[in-house]
Amino acid sequence: MIKLIAFDWNGTLLADLRPTVTAENRCFQKLKFNRRLSIRQYQEFYEIPIRNYWLKLGFDASYFDKHTKQVHQAFMDFYEPLEKTCRTRGGAKDVLKWLKKRRISAIIFSNHMKNHIVRQTRRLGLWPYLDEILGRPDHDHSHMHVQNKALQLKTYLRNKRIKPREVMVVGDTDEEIIIGHKYGYHATALTGGHQSQKRLKVARPEFLIHNLKNLKPIIAKLNADSAKN
Ligand SMILES: [Mg+2]
Repeated sequence: MIKLIAFDWNGTLLADLRPTVTAENRCFQKLKFNRRLSIRQYQEFYEIPIRNYWLKLGFDASYFDKHTKQVHQAFMDFYEPLEKTCRTRGGAKDVLKWLKKRRISAIIFSNHMKNHIVRQTRRLGLWPYLDEILGRPDHDHSHMHVQNKALQLKTYLRNKRIKPREVMVVGDTDEEIIIGHKYGYHATALTGGHQSQKRLKVARPEFLIHNLKNLKPIIAKLNADSAKN
């Protein structure tokens, strides 16, 4: 029985692929890093921790480690004004309403800053349908070097006494799928976000969808099957 859906934020509930690539390219330019990415190229390279992705692009590791804060700030200076203009991914509100009606908990677990997510979920009308937002504090740049949202989710579930098999994680990158495998959650990959479909498939998601509304029959079937047993 699925009791909780943990959604990733960027690229999953928030349609910020294009603005992110624009901000990345402006950021590269500002740092005099001679790279320019198309959306397709970005989808082939992007990953968390951000450090891995920048190094794969050829950025200098010691500069990155020394100037992590400045690299992050340069990106945010370009990303933040664009963030305010982003819409939700197709079917986002629809599926959140559907979950609320069925008393299935919906939360966000993200590497992004919690304050930003709160502001955007309010602006976009998603806020009333969410039970919790797990994100990082404004001045924490740990996502540049490590993956940590999995641990936040694990702690949250333990406090709520929700078992791994009662959880579905949904994300647009392999990070969420890998977390699903590692902790024993169900996992759904959403295409059209920050990684290519090919990369998502390599991570072997249990389900792969092209629109968030397609989560509804998946959850309904899992819960019908568990009611039979
Ligand atoms: Mg994402």
